[in-house]
Amino acid sequence: MERVILVSGGLDSFAAYHYYKKYSPEDENLPLYIDYKGMYVEKEKETIKDLFGESVDVLSGVFDFSEHEHPTNAFIPNRNAFFALSVLFKYPDVNEIVMGGLNDDNVGDKSPDAFLRMEELLTEISGRRIYVTSPFWNHNKKDVVKFLVEEGLEEQMLDTCSCYHPSEERWCGECPACFRRFCAFLDASVIDPKMPFFKNTALMNQYLANIDDYDEDRAYTIEEAYNYSHRKIAQTFLNYSMKGNTYTNEEYVKSCKDEKVLAFDIDGTLTEEVEGFNPEAYLERTPVKKMIKEVRQFYKGGNKIILFTSRKCVDVEVTCRWLDLWEVPYHEIIFEKPHYDLFIDDKAKSATDFC
Ligand SMILES: [Zn+2]
Repeated sequence: MERVILVSGGLDSFAAYHYYKKYSPEDENLPLYIDYKGMYVEKEKETIKDLFGESVDVLSGVFDFSEHEHPTNAFIPNRNAFFALSVLFKYPDVNEIVMGGLNDDNVGDKSPDAFLRMEELLTEISGRRIYVTSPFWNHNKKDVVKFLVEEGLEEQMLDTCSCYHPSEERWCGECPACFRRFCAFLDASVIDPKMPFFKNTALMNQYLANIDDYDEDRAYTIEEAYNYSHRKIAQTFLNYSMKGNTYTNEEYVKSCKDEKVLAFDIDGTLTEEVEGFNPEAYLERTPVKKMIKEVRQFYKGGNKIILFTSRKCVDVEVTCRWLDLWEVPYHEIIFEKPHYDLFIDDKAKSATDFC
């Protein structure tokens, strides 16, 4: 059985290749890259070299799509259909052509039905049975990430490239492809050190606003990752508070100089209760609505809100959940504030005097 797996340097096709290597090792599983002369070709070629080494074959000289690709999102109409047909140039005896399609793909020529039509066409014109498939039609990107992790390919997976940014970088952290990857990675609990946080909040908000329009799996993945991102923000600042992170104190103060910075304690200030130092107790805390209203107003007015708490770093998740639940806005949380009986400070105000 001769199976040609079309690879692009992206996550899905990399996983498809390893899927067949694992489940159909007796077949000839041949990775093929098609050079379509688009703006991402150089970046992709470099990536496939890293991912597949000498085993990847390249088909060139058939297409020049440089005039036809979308300037920002790499979309080329019917590309998969053209690619499937062109495999026969290089592999006239191929039995199966694989392209990485997921259950949340909804492009015209990337769906189970479209693949079936390609199959019929190829079978008809070649006079023998040719299959066109994806092993992941019933899975989303998170499943693909999990599969690669389970196969011990996590490190190589981080080298795959899905970015639409026409720079040399494999990651821009701003484009739609990077966003989908960001969501899938976070939802599968994979941290990519090259992509610490998704920078394009406008795009992220656009996805979130349209979440009801997405298939359940895609919506779930985005929502989960978004929830996670709140924790991630808190974690970032937690690192800052513990290690100084990338800021020097001077830079940090400079970055805040135009805003008024207000620090709020959590227990006893934003919450009524102060007893019970475990996640269950933290989640059950009663909000001090008057104080939370003040926080919201300061936040809205463009000021910086820091939450400064003696809770432990491990409580970051439950803390963020409670804050989300009661819609407390903030920019940073700093954990591990020391325990004290009396706090002497020239700028401190007691919660009861404050509001
Ligand atoms: Zn990108």
